[in-house]
Amino acid sequence: MGVSVQVASFKAQQTMIVLRRQLLRLLRLRNLIACTVLLILLYILRTRQELDFPKLQYGQEHALAHSKSDHFVPRSTKKIDWHDHVLIQHESERVGIGEQGKPAFLLSKDKALEEELYSVNGFNGALSDKIALNRSLPDIRHRGCKHRKYLEDLPTVSVIVPFHNEHWSTLLRTAFTVLYRSPKKLIKEIFLVDDASTKDFLKEKLDSYLEQNIPKARVIRVHNRSGLITARLAGAKEATGDVLIFLDSHTEANVNWLPPLLEPIALNYRTVVCPFIDVIAYDTFEYRPQDEGARGAFDWEFFYKRLPVLPKDKKNMPEPFESPVMAGGLFAISRKFFWELGGYDPGLDIWGGEQYELSFKIWQCGGRMVDAPCSRVGHIYRKFAPFPNPGHGDFVGKNYRRVAEVWMDEYSQYLYKRRPHYLKIDPGDLTAQKAIRTKLKCKPFKWFITQIAFDLPVKYPMIEPEPFGSGQIKTSSGNRCVDAKDTQKKDKITLSPCDSNAGRQKFILSWHKDIRMSSQPMCWDVPESKPRSPVLLYSCHLGGGNQLWRYLPDTKQFRHSSGTCLDHDEQTFELFVNRCDSQRSTQQWQVAYNKQALDKWDDIQTVVTGPLPYEDDIYT
Ligand code: UDP
Ligand code: MN
Repeated sequence: MGVSVQVASFKAQQTMIVLRRQLLRLLRLRNLIACTVLLILLYILRTRQELDFPKLQYGQEHALAHSKSDHFVPRSTKKIDWHDHVLIQHESERVGIGEQGKPAFLLSKDKALEEELYSVNGFNGALSDKIALNRSLPDIRHRGCKHRKYLEDLPTVSVIVPFHNEHWSTLLRTAFTVLYRSPKKLIKEIFLVDDASTKDFLKEKLDSYLEQNIPKARVIRVHNRSGLITARLAGAKEATGDVLIFLDSHTEANVNWLPPLLEPIALNYRTVVCPFIDVIAYDTFEYRPQDEGARGAFDWEFFYKRLPVLPKDKKNMPEPFESPVMAGGLFAISRKFFWELGGYDPGLDIWGGEQYELSFKIWQCGGRMVDAPCSRVGHIYRKFAPFPNPGHGDFVGKNYRRVAEVWMDEYSQYLYKRRPHYLKIDPGDLTAQKAIRTKLKCKPFKWFITQIAFDLPVKYPMIEPEPFGSGQIKTSSGNRCVDAKDTQKKDKITLSPCDSNAGRQKFILSWHKDIRMSSQPMCWDVPESKPRSPVLLYSCHLGGGNQLWRYLPDTKQFRHSSGTCLDHDEQTFELFVNRCDSQRSTQQWQVAYNKQALDKWDDIQTVVTGPLPYEDDIYT
């Protein structure tokens, strides 16, 4: 029994060993299977965009992947759908004040506050406070944007928002919508750069609000009011993201705004990208498009202007298209390229001219600039600028002078011809700026104006053709003059006793074939061309149409593009257009005209066709 017991226990031991081995093998196999399943799961999760990995060490991966290059290079060419469809669905169901970007109004009990906040902001701050920070916006992108995919591997972003005495809810809506409508892992930080604001709530209250509610955002403070250029530079200096995105402090980022801004930079770090800037109405906060896109430009007084999108680019919509000049407030640039260009010229003071400086630098020094139609950001265009000049004199003139001296070569003369006093302003030391131009072997301005902004001189000639006439416009008797001031109906021109000192009686028959006030670009306009339609004053649109007038020196008539002529009522002194009749003395006008210029009328192209590859409706 003892032996049999021993044998039995030996057998049992053997069995146990075999069993244990089997079990271990099984466990190893299960581990292997479990591990594989886990890995597959992780892979699936990783490739699903809507799941955010809070601290997926994107930065670390990034550093490894890009350690050989000092700027972002995407690791693959794979493209994905970056839309946050859950959020889009949720937003489409929102209702309430200002939701879906609809115009909103305050109740009369809020009117006093409305007035007060209007005057300090230049927009309806009281209404803004009633609208949710994450209100829904209409998706007004080109229909092709809804299905566009972008690179899966995109650079990280530092958003920089300079502000001076910005209103509370508009400032926060700027930061909030950036985060809310962006893939979280792409936003590294948001800097609100306080340009020495004096409003109390922009101090500790703002710091602690951000800490608790938007931890990725923090305030950087500039202690003496220095302007938006210095403030943007202060933000850029602290930024660590691959791409810097500058925004104004009263903006709202719209659906999927970020990937279209980043992809062109990921593909070429010397490409700078601007979003389409939509209009948030300063009074109702309605969200609407400005237009369906345009190329940025300027006139020779340095007013910002827009040129039409080229036909080849129109066909390619919503593909990004090249634009000569940025509007200035909203754009994305790789951090590396920004600093290669020396950032902004730190000698630019307060506000103005920086959009030209950076645009010229980008193009002339080896970069390019595009507008991305699928990226849309709303901006409140103020009714008026509420901030006083901080006592720095003509800082805009000084800034323009710096930009012209460093970047515009012989073309600066066209600016000075229109603003001779700029030549008396000391631009300060320009050595460092000129050194950047030499170091980067930047191209001449002539290259920029002939290759990139090639249609700018056609619409805004450096040397303008002579006007067809100017001065007072008198009735045939010579007693009454056309007058731009009608106290009852503001926009209507009328007839008043002639007064040679009255600026509002001075007009220019400009080479644009319009008749404008000599003091401001307001033009005679006939919105409805039927008999006895009044003549109103509208901003000049430089394109003929219902602002096109021709003086006929033989009959002394002003003939409008509609085929009617300027006429008046001798009793009421009202002005209107009427069927042309050269016998009627009420249609005869005296004006100092330039015969040589009038003789060349037909040769002067105001509506740009011919040499440019445009459809002819572009300037109407
Ligand atoms: N800004 C600033 N300091 C200034 C003037 C403006 O920081 O001295 C900020 C302002 O708060 C805004 C941006 O710069 O975020 C652009 O100014 P603003 O919106 O007044 O210009 P606009 O859009 O009307 O051209
Ligand atoms: Mn602004």
